[in-house]
Amino acid sequence: MAEVKKPAAKAAPAKKGAAEGVWNLYEAKGDSVVRKNKHCPKCGPGFFLAAHKDRHVCGKCGYVEYLAKK
Ligand SMILES: [Zn+2]
Repeated sequence: MAEVKKPAAKAAPAKKGAAEGVWNLYEAKGDSVVRKNKHCPKCGPGFFLAAHKDRHVCGKCGYVEYLAKK
């Protein structure tokens, strides 16, 4: 006898720790939204530089901005 499976509601598993994704780059301050990361000078606003330990990298054009060591 064939079993009829009920469509189970798939709940997204709650991730522990910091949320990932572009929304992590924004921070709401009052009525405005502050972008925490720098944007790419080549690609313009909207294309963020990925923050690495010692550099910022654009994932679109490959622009790299090294952070000055203190
Ligand atoms: Zn870029």
